[in-house]
This record gives sequence, C-alpha cells and structure tokens, in this order.
Amino acid sequence: MDIIVLQPDTPEENIRHILKKLESKGLKGTISQGTERTIIGVIGDTSRVTEEEEDAIRVMTGVENVVRILKPYKLASREFKKVNTEINVRGSIIGGKKIQVMAGPCAVENKTILMNIAERVKNSGATFLRGGAYKPRTSPYSFQGLGEEGLRYLAEAREKTGLPIVTEIMDPRDMDVIVKYADIIQIGTRNMQNFRLLLEVGSIDKPILLKRGLSATIKEWLMSAEYIMSRGNQNVMLCERGIRTFETATRNTLDLSAVPLLKQLTHLPVVVDPSHGVGKWDLVAPMAKAAVAAGADALMIEVHTNPEEALSDGEQSLRPDLFAKLMRELKPIAEAVGREI
Ligand code: PEP
Ligand code: MN
Repeated sequence: MDIIVLQPDTPEENIRHILKKLESKGLKGTISQGTERTIIGVIGDTSRVTEEEEDAIRVMTGVENVVRILKPYKLASREFKKVNTEINVRGSIIGGKKIQVMAGPCAVENKTILMNIAERVKNSGATFLRGGAYKPRTSPYSFQGLGEEGLRYLAEAREKTGLPIVTEIMDPRDMDVIVKYADIIQIGTRNMQNFRLLLEVGSIDKPILLKRGLSATIKEWLMSAEYIMSRGNQNVMLCERGIRTFETATRNTLDLSAVPLLKQLTHLPVVVDPSHGVGKWDLVAPMAKAAVAAGADALMIEVHTNPEEALSDGEQSLRPDLFAKLMRELKPIAEAVGREI
C-alpha cells in the first residue's frame, strides 16, 4: 500500500483519522491535492503492511482505493502523480510550456565579471543566472569559490537583472547562508548520494536542482530525489549532466535518452546541462539543441566573457555572443516540439 485515493469531498476529520491510522503502523502520510482527486502518499516501509491491514484501510470512511506502487521511488513516480510538476520560481515556471534557460559562469569570480555575464545572458533571453560560490573542485589547490561574498554578488546581479539565481550547496553547514540568497539550490554530481545532505534540503522550502551522479543509474538518481521528497520538499528538478563511460574524447557522455525516459518514470521537471555533459565549448550548442528536441524543460549553460581566463571550466564555457546565437537557434526547435523558449 503506497497511495490512498480519497473520495471527493472527504471531510478533514476523516482524513485525520486515516493519517492517525497510518501513524499507528509506523507510517507517515503526505497529502497531495489534485484538481480532481486528493490522495495520500504513504511514506515508510510499506512492504511490511499485510493484506489484512491494507483491507482495513480500504474500508475506512473516505477511502476510495488503496494502490501499491511497484517502483522503489514513490513520491517521485509518475504512478503517484500523473500531472507534471511545475515549479514556480519568482514567476518563472520550470516544467511548463516555456523552456527555462539557466546561464552564467561556472564559478562567481568577482563582481565585475559576474555583472557583465549576468547582463549579457539576460539580454540574450536567459531566465535564470547560475554561478557557484562553493565549488566542488577535484584538486584542493584549485579555486574553491568565494563563499558568502560570491552569494552577495549573485544577489546583486539578481537585483540588477531580475534573474533568479541557482547556486550549489556542498555542506549542510552552509545551509543558512545559502538559503538566505539562493532561489534554487543545486546539489552537484559529487553529492547526489550524500544522503544526509539530501535529507537536509528535503526539509527546506526552496526548489532543488538535483544533478545526476557521475556513475549513477536513473533508478539511483530517482531514489535520491525520493530522499529529498520524503522530507516534505516536493520541488525537485532532475539535471542530466553527463555520465562516466569508457569514452575520453568528451568530458562525460551526455545521456539524452534519460530525458524521455524520465518523462515516463517521473512527474518532476528535467533539466539538461550540456556544458558539463561534453566539456568542450564547441559541442555545447548542438547538444543543447538536441536536449530541447528530446523534451528538456530547462537548460543549464556555462557562459563566460573571457573563457581563457576563467578560474574553472573555461574550456566548456560559451562566450556571450555564441550564447546569444544559440538562444536564437533554439527558438524554432522549441516550437517544433510544442514548446517556447
Ligand atoms: C557546476 O554546475 O558547475 C558543477 C560543478 O556541476 P556538476 O556537479 O554537474 O559537475
Ligand atoms: Mn562547472
């Protein structure tokens, strides 16, 4: 038993009674109000619920049906929620008809560079500004990010351009400061299975962009989304950013088949990051176009005014003029698949 479908207009009192019943079995219910039906998602080890116990719930007042979800992820599954999740961030909807574009530098380097990049991407039609202030670098000797100073610059750039900001959290100890500034909090590839971190962002009230782990299967990735959702935060988007394969000619292998597959398996919005997916600036535009054709709800693209001097990921960053060209070229592709950009 994983979903309890309620009869229309079931009184509060009966719903409370059902929730109490679940609690007595060591389970928790989360209520999801649809346009036609209200359902209760049951969280916990539902495999221990016997058929008799399930039948006892089935006959409770207000219960229309009790359904088992076969997938190991429940709240994230399409079975649980048929309609696409739309995440509203300062009026921009992720998961709706319009494809959102999150653009900006890999890392916030200084105020002048960030402001320039933010204005350029805004003028080309980007709808979010991305930039890391806490950077997960492979080498401890590489630039690690500006920390709170970087977050302050992001907030100033938002003030100036109106673009909401996306930035990464690596450590729960930075939660308070990041929550203060960010509109969307990114969980990076290297932390996709940092379960304690996932639970922490599950209890806050900010949308989460969950990147796919370097070698994570789609099922593992959805289980990580489930960790976040199980704590109450239902505003999760999944970001495909390339996986490790035997191929070394590109930085990663961008798994675009994940996009239509995720659309079947989950109701959560799907973002594609071709920059980390390929690692080479001249391959970013074609893969961004392919991502839109495949059904992505949003793109994340690294842009830098001077890629040669960038403190991280310069080799995969687009110059602003090439980003502008890409934005123009994406329009007819979006239209061809019934979207707009
Ligand atoms: C990034 O977005 O700059 C980043 C570090 O991404 P990933 O976690 O996908 O490597
Ligand atoms: Mn990067």
